[in-house]
Amino acid sequence: MPGLNLILLGPPGAGKGTQAQLLRADFSLAHISTGDMLRAAVAEGSELGRQAQGHMERGELVPDELIVAMIRERIGAEDARAGFLLDGFPRTIAQAEALGRALGAGGRELSAVVALELSDDVVVQRLAGRRVCVKNPAHIYHIDFDPPKHEGVCDQDGARLIQREDDREETIRRRLAVYHEQTEPLIAYYDQRSLLHRFDAARDREHLHEIIRAELAALRFAEGL
Ligand code: AMP
Repeated sequence: MPGLNLILLGPPGAGKGTQAQLLRADFSLAHISTGDMLRAAVAEGSELGRQAQGHMERGELVPDELIVAMIRERIGAEDARAGFLLDGFPRTIAQAEALGRALGAGGRELSAVVALELSDDVVVQRLAGRRVCVKNPAHIYHIDFDPPKHEGVCDQDGARLIQREDDREETIRRRLAVYHEQTEPLIAYYDQRSLLHRFDAARDREHLHEIIRAELAALRFAEGL
């Protein structure tokens, strides 16, 4: 069975990472986060990491060629063949077109695009309070809304919690501007292709997850995936 091939779209801070963790378990998907892959490359000090680092710290996008090469390889991997969830990719129309070509060449296609919608003010409030685990970036907390049991320490593995360099308010504002300018046009792009499913991301994450899960389960059933 081909499984669901999904994109999670939305501004930074809309909860893409959190929903991705939940949905990958629901539908046995490979979770592919370009942000996490790039941060790992920076930590490793690889050539890709060196080329990406400055762009990331400034809150700008990493050049399309680098990202597209990285993603093409990743979606070709065995675990992604039974369904994947792209988190943070595509972020430009050029990336979306490259993705469409890469999938088409392998006889695959997208199942749906999950668009999480959230206002800029809520994004800033959420991101400025976000803390992530130094050992596993998927362990995410918020100092007001989802604090760890012990301040500054990850509940799941006891590692230190830090604020991402790009979660400072000034950088968040820049990332939002980049989102509106370069990534938001993808909403219309995928709407035209009848792939878009919109969700109000201001609701709490369990409720949001339930609604998305139900809609994707119905889609999977309807398409026999
Ligand atoms: P994220 O964790 O998804 O917010 O990504 C963190 C940073 O990595 C972004 O601000 C960009 O600098 C870079 N990045 C992640 N995904 C992409 C992408 N698809 N295209 C370009 N840059 C990206």
